[in-house]
Amino acid sequence: MAVQKNKKTRSKRNMRRSHDALVASNPSECPNCGELKRPHHVCGACGKYDDREVVAQADETDLDEDAA
Ligand SMILES: [Zn+2]
Repeated sequence: MAVQKNKKTRSKRNMRRSHDALVASNPSECPNCGELKRPHHVCGACGKYDDREVVAQADETDLDEDAA
């Protein structure tokens, strides 16, 4: 293991950490339900992507199927 010879100063430590900040995501509106979603990802609210239903939603099941 490499062992440092000298202690890094607060200044050098802070210079290194200047690039560590997290950047905020860039959410976009879902064209189907209007909820904010991550771009190029399936909508977490309605489960659709590009007008296709990709993830089945439990609350969207048709209750009339059982009645008929
Ligand atoms: Zn949606």
